[in-house]
Amino acid sequence: MARIYNFQPGPAALPLPVLEKAREELLDYGGAGMSVMEMSHRGKTFDAVIKAAEANVRRLLGVPDEYAVLFLQGGASLQFAMVPLNLLGPGKTADYVNTGSWAAKAIKEGTLVGGVNVAWDGKEDNYMRVPAESELRLTPGAAYVHITSNETIGGIQYREFPRTEAPLVADMSSDIMSRPLDVRRFGIIYAGAQKNLGPSGVTLVIVRKDLAERAPEKLPTMLKYKTHIPEPSLYNTPNTWGVYILKLVTEWVDSVGGLEKLLQINERKAALLYEALDGSSFWRPCARKESRSVMNVTWRLGSEALEEKFIKEASKAGLDGLKGHRSVGGIRASLYNAVSMEAVAALVQFMKEFERGNG
Ligand SMILES: *Cc1c(COP(=O)(O)O)cnc(C)c1O
Repeated sequence: MARIYNFQPGPAALPLPVLEKAREELLDYGGAGMSVMEMSHRGKTFDAVIKAAEANVRRLLGVPDEYAVLFLQGGASLQFAMVPLNLLGPGKTADYVNTGSWAAKAIKEGTLVGGVNVAWDGKEDNYMRVPAESELRLTPGAAYVHITSNETIGGIQYREFPRTEAPLVADMSSDIMSRPLDVRRFGIIYAGAQKNLGPSGVTLVIVRKDLAERAPEKLPTMLKYKTHIPEPSLYNTPNTWGVYILKLVTEWVDSVGGLEKLLQINERKAALLYEALDGSSFWRPCARKESRSVMNVTWRLGSEALEEKFIKEASKAGLDGLKGHRSVGGIRASLYNAVSMEAVAALVQFMKEFERGNG
């Protein structure tokens, strides 16, 4: 079997034990005589799966009882709209922090729904850092403050989250479950599953139940958070396969030692790569040091031609997914939970050889 070193930004690498378990259970899930994809989402067997997935998320992230844990569809992109549709009432303003491409998409949807104030814009610094709390120009009485905990394209990440009076809403698509979290600091956390949690097609939403009550009555049923809370995530048919894989991924997180342990491993992986990037002027890391992402590492080379050569030769050497996002170019290595230290070491080794041949 030839599994490559996978640095894809998303959908991204999944832990091998998860894929093996899914293969083992594919034709006959738990003695049911059918796969988990072929059974009722309201039956006893799947009920145990979705309850276990929710319990794992609650335990790993320490989600308090006053929050609902939902597995929705439509990706983080639908959350860009659902957040303002549920929370941004008439005459209200929401504060948004513009740290880059994903934040900008959230802002766009916010402005389609209601009043938006951009509380900080990273444009001057080419979106290569996150702001300090003191730099935010927040609106008194704001409906919420929206941040992007990790900008997947730029490669910047919050170490500390701002303290805000209004509920803090965070798009954590690309760093959820990469480190311990204090959920109580947030009103809503959402994340597409395809970076750190499982396959695409499931969106984890953690929402404080009192905030879900703010939805206008006229909002269509599927778009209201509160529709999905009483029978969690079972108002309509959820992505049963995706929820099942998410359950396996969260079990794998436990087997590795939980989020404290994952944070240690993730920091060591990122440190190894940033050390290599800082070690020679051949490489030009993009993000400001204090905002560097542990999940997505971005850098440039001397020319676009050289970058193209790097990506091509890396791919030949079994290192895949290193092309920067089409909107910014350059190189990006995504080091999500399922990317091993061994994979990062192989990348660093390849970089040394590439520099020797092209420096
Ligand atoms: C990938 C990503 C998204 C988009 O998620 P979809 O599930 O494709 O809608 C949004 N925000 C961030 C930070 C991401 O990394």
